[in-house]
Amino acid sequence: MNKKILFVSAEVYPFAKVGGLADVAGALPKALAELGADVRVITPFYGDIQEKAKNFGIKSAEIKGVPVVIGDDIENFELFSAKLPDSQVPIYFVKSERYFDRKGIYFDPKTKKNFPDQAERLVFFAKAVLESADSLKFKPDILHLNDHHTSILPVYLKILHRHHPIWRKTASVLTIHNLAYQGVFPASVMELLGLGEEFFYPEGPFEFYGNVNFLKIGILFADVVNTVSPTYAQEIQTPEYGNKLDGVLRSVSQKVFGIINGVDYSVWDPAVDKDIEYNYSADDLSGKRMMKSSVLRQFKLPEELDVPLLGMIGRMAEQKGFDLVAEILPELIKHDLKLVVLGSGDPKYEKMFKSAAEKYPKKLSVFTGFNGPLAHKIEAGADMFVMPSRFEPCGLNQMYSLRYGTVPLVRRTGGLADTVIDVDEKPNVGTGFVFSEYSPQALLNAINRALMHFSETKRWRKIILRGMKQDFSWEASARKYLELYKKAIEFKGR
Ligand code: ADP
Repeated sequence: MNKKILFVSAEVYPFAKVGGLADVAGALPKALAELGADVRVITPFYGDIQEKAKNFGIKSAEIKGVPVVIGDDIENFELFSAKLPDSQVPIYFVKSERYFDRKGIYFDPKTKKNFPDQAERLVFFAKAVLESADSLKFKPDILHLNDHHTSILPVYLKILHRHHPIWRKTASVLTIHNLAYQGVFPASVMELLGLGEEFFYPEGPFEFYGNVNFLKIGILFADVVNTVSPTYAQEIQTPEYGNKLDGVLRSVSQKVFGIINGVDYSVWDPAVDKDIEYNYSADDLSGKRMMKSSVLRQFKLPEELDVPLLGMIGRMAEQKGFDLVAEILPELIKHDLKLVVLGSGDPKYEKMFKSAAEKYPKKLSVFTGFNGPLAHKIEAGADMFVMPSRFEPCGLNQMYSLRYGTVPLVRRTGGLADTVIDVDEKPNVGTGFVFSEYSPQALLNAINRALMHFSETKRWRKIILRGMKQDFSWEASARKYLELYKKAIEFKGR
C-alpha cells in the first residue's frame, strides 16, 4: 500500500526560502510522489507568500475558522492550497492573521531579529498541522518534520494525541537540516505547548540548561531522526559538532541516520536553468564562457575571460567560513584571479566584504542581499566555487557547482565530505579540491592547488566534465527516505 505522508516545513521553495531547507521541502515530496507515495506538504501562509499567491495559483481550501487553543486564547486558522510546481503534490498553507500575516519568515525584516512571539508562532503552527489533517480527513502513516520549527509535533503523537483516531498509528520522522538552530525558549512555553509543569524538570526531555529546546524534544520523541548527510549524522554525535546536543543524540544513536539531499535538476541544471541567459551542457560549454562574461559585467569586474573566476554564495553566518576567506583576501588578490561573492546575513561579514571590495575593485566584487537568479548566474559563470564551511549538514551549492561545471573547493566536513572527491588524492575520479583543517592557510593551499590545475586547460576540462556527470538526483535519496519511513513505523510499533 502507498504510504500517506504529511510533510511539514517552515519553508518550501519556491513559496518561501531562507536556505537549503526550502530547497529540500520543495523537491523531496515530489520525488516521493514519483515513487508512488501519497504525500502532502503543509507550511505557514506568510505575508510574503500571500503577496505572490495569484502567481502560484494558491486558492482557498474551503476550510475556515478552525480553532486552535494557544495559552489562554483560541485562535482560528484557515487553509489555502496549491500544488508544488510541475507536480500534483498538494501543498496547504495555514493562514493566521495573528501569527503569519506579516513580512518575514523567522525574523522581522525591520529589526533583523527573531519575532518576539516566535515560540507562539511555532506552537500555533504545530497545533494547526494536527487540526488540518483532521479537517482534510487525511490520516498520515508518517508525519515528516523538519528542523526545530516543527520538531515539537512528536510530543503530541506520543503524549497528548496518543489515542487520537487520526494519530494513533502515525509514526514520526524528524530531519535535522542544521543542528545549530535549536529553538531554545524560556520554560514558560510549556504552558503554550499544553503540557503541565510536571513535565519540566532538570535533565528531563523538556529541559535544556533551564530553558526548553524544541529540537531536543524532537530528537527524543520522534520515532526516527535523520540528518542530511551520513558524515554529519556521525559528526553531530561528537562534542565538536554536537552544539550541546551530542549527548542527547548519542543516547538515541540507534535511531539516528544520515541521508544525503538530492538536487532538483529541473531548477539547478545549466541546460534548462531559466535564470541564466545562456544555457549549456557537458557537450558544449560555450554558454558557460558567455555566462562568465555576463557575471563579470554584472559585478562590474574587467571582462578577462582567461583569468580564473571564483564564486562564493551563502548565508553570511559563522558556519560558512567567510572569516577564512576574509583572512586570506590580501594574499589571494596577489594571484591572477577574481572573486565574486553573494551573501547576506551577519552585518559584520557584510561590512567586511563590502569594504574589501572597495579596496580591490578589479579583483573582488560583492553583492549583499538575497538574490535567487544571481545565485544561478554565479554558479554558471564562475570557474570555481569556494565553500570552506566550519560545518555543513549537507550543503547544496557544492552539488549545484558540480552540475554547472564550477569546480568546488570545500572543507572536509558533513555533506561536503560526502559529495566532493579531491582531485590530487584521486586523480582519476576527483571532482574538486578538499581540505581538512579549518584554517586560512589550509584554504589557501587548496586554492593554490586548484589554480595550478586550472592553468592546464585539458586537465581542468576533464575535472569539469567529471563533476557535471555526477548524479545527485532526488530519486535515490527519496528511496532511502521510504526505507527510513519503514523503520519509523517499525520503531513505533516496538
Ligand atoms: P544553507 O541551507 O546552510 O543556507 P545550502 O548550501 O544547503 O546552505 O543551501 C543554500 C541555498 O540558499 C542555496 O540554494 C543557495 O543558492 C541559496 N542562497 C544562500 N544565500 C543566498 C543569497 N544571498 N542569495 C541567493 N541565494 C542564496
